[in-house]
Amino acid sequence: MSTVTAGGGARWAPLGPGDTVLVTGAAGGIGRRVVGACAGAGLRVVAVDRVPFEDDRAARCLVGDIRDREFVASCLTGEAGGVAGVAHLAAIPAPGHHPEEEILDTNVLGSYVVCQEAGRSGARRLVLASSVSAFGLAWADRDLSPRYAPVDEDHPTLAVDSYGLSKVLAEEVAAFTTRRWGLPTVALRFPFVGSGERLARQLAQVHADPGGHRRDLWGWLDTGDAADAVHAALTAPLTGHHVITVSAPDTSARQPTGELLRAHHPNTPLTGELGGHSTVFDTSRARELLGFVPRHRWRGEPPPQGG
Ligand code: NAD
Repeated sequence: MSTVTAGGGARWAPLGPGDTVLVTGAAGGIGRRVVGACAGAGLRVVAVDRVPFEDDRAARCLVGDIRDREFVASCLTGEAGGVAGVAHLAAIPAPGHHPEEEILDTNVLGSYVVCQEAGRSGARRLVLASSVSAFGLAWADRDLSPRYAPVDEDHPTLAVDSYGLSKVLAEEVAAFTTRRWGLPTVALRFPFVGSGERLARQLAQVHADPGGHRRDLWGWLDTGDAADAVHAALTAPLTGHHVITVSAPDTSARQPTGELLRAHHPNTPLTGELGGHSTVFDTSRARELLGFVPRHRWRGEPPPQGG
């Protein structure tokens, strides 16, 4: 389910300057940028990770495990004035390097603990880092194709891998949290996220072998844009639970999108416009609900207006 409604009102006012946000996974690639985006926009940041780290932009850096309920509760209730919002990024971000049970344990139980303690503590907004892996193609052990394209958030999950499942279940935990506590939750489905050398490596791989990336649908997002999307999801005026895909407006490939789909997903019907190099993902929900449009395109085109 992608949208759950709940009563609105001042109780669920979006975050603004001076409010405190708890960022989990703050030592990670995206988390570090989220700390910077939130602190730069005037939020007070409490940063959490299980590895020791330092970040001058955070008011406090706390080390602990998100699966530890007492630790998470203390992070949320130990702040004078309370924690207004949570950006939950801590996770095992890909399959293959950890046992499947550990991925489920960290990504699902961890999300459960963070979401329930956020609801219990009276936080006003929770943003969860999900993934386009929830659609099920990216890490599948077989060739799957989208049922239709552009791929929007109502596309069914086809997941046959444990990481994709962990993101589907984490989104369900967020929806449950909205039903249980009223707490507005936003699950952001990111594609590959990177900038600098990490992005350059990804682009080189895609350009050398576009077919090898048919499962990620050539999606990508600059790390700074991912952090800005998290900030937008913390501060947008909304209630209820929302699953929102955030992707760069273009693909990571050199070939036009129509050509890519005809070559690598020939049985996927097109239900909308996919001109030029436009992303295979429908990102209209991010624009409409968050007012968010990514600024970066690897082709060096001028950033789009708005957002
Ligand atoms: P990362 O591995 O760089 O950062 C994740 C952080 O979470 C790490 O610092 C790690 O120490 C921390 N962490 C892991 N388990 C923890 C635990 N039990 N308790 C406390 N901290 C814990 O990953 P990232 O690329 O920054 O990803 C952030 C989020 O975005 C993840 O939820 C990931 O699934 C999602 N995501 C990432 C990408 C991508 O391309 N990087 C794409 C889609 C979604």
